[in-house]
Amino acid sequence: VEDGDGGGDGDGDGDAVRVGVELLCVVRAVLKKIKRRVLVGDKVLVGSIDWVDRRGVIENVFSRKSEILDPPVANVDHLLVLFAMEQPKLEVYSLTRFLVEAESTGIPITLALNKSELVDEETRVAWKSRLRSWGYGPVFCSVESKFGLDTLAFSLREQTTVIVGPSGVGKSSLINALRSNHPLINVSSEENNWFDSILGSKLLEEQRVGEVSVRSGRGKHTTRHVSLLPLSGGGYLADTPGFNQPSLLKVTTQSLAQTFPEIRKLLSGSANEPEKCSFNDCLHLGEPGCVVKGDWERYPYYFQLLDEIKIREEFQ
Ligand code: GDP
Ligand code: ZN
Repeated sequence: VEDGDGGGDGDGDGDAVRVGVELLCVVRAVLKKIKRRVLVGDKVLVGSIDWVDRRGVIENVFSRKSEILDPPVANVDHLLVLFAMEQPKLEVYSLTRFLVEAESTGIPITLALNKSELVDEETRVAWKSRLRSWGYGPVFCSVESKFGLDTLAFSLREQTTVIVGPSGVGKSSLINALRSNHPLINVSSEENNWFDSILGSKLLEEQRVGEVSVRSGRGKHTTRHVSLLPLSGGGYLADTPGFNQPSLLKVTTQSLAQTFPEIRKLLSGSANEPEKCSFNDCLHLGEPGCVVKGDWERYPYYFQLLDEIKIREEFQ
């Protein structure tokens, strides 16, 4: 965005206009001084624009509606949690950890299950009802046989999405499939070429210093550099997948319950009368007057994760 009338009050509306071209920018020194880091996905105020060389100076960063650290992206409004039905085998504990980490960001989640061509219909139906009981409506897909990619592309429209999941489930394959083949996600190559020519060489120089392998053939992206691919249906997809190992560092013993849709549902009660445990700080471990009963599949995992977080908090 560019400062439209010089107001620059930082409230993100009224005086901001979309420029629609890419500018190579430096960050105003004062922002660095107050440790205001600029992230990919940030909405920024740009001044001192040189339209010929397409350069500018980032004067301010608008407040973020969300922020994730792995990969570092601001204003993410959708997380696509990707797992595989097989290779690696779909495993409840690992899936739960990823879902808890994703839920803890407060960002809406779509759960997708890739490599679904490797299992039969019966298995898919069984998982579907199982995941429904957890509170998730999964999308089955297969990058290999192009199955379900339309549904996924649809869920990405008008949003900034980061794909997260363990290694080997097909995250990079999915990003590539969505990038190269899908009509809804047709990246404008002309703009990207310009960007590559200016940014590419510079970034490569900087990143080579840090001993990073450059993906062969492309010569632009490294594992550390995040780009947002513009989607033709509106919105963006981060080209770098996120949290390979959920650390759960932002989850506390008090906040863990809210990352389980099963518990959220029990606590929401009926439409006009929310259920309440007797104790405000109830951890739902069978305390007197607790409205969360342990008769749901993932309760043992809730219990296990709570223990892990408790130990971490004791040592902090
Ligand atoms: P990432 O680590 O999550 O980024 O996973 P990759 O995209 O590197 O994929 C891991 C492996 O799974 C590669 O060998 C892919 O070719 C393979 N793969 C990706 N999608 C599918 C799929 O839908 N079906 C099958 N059978 N293999 C797939
Ligand atoms: Zn309770």
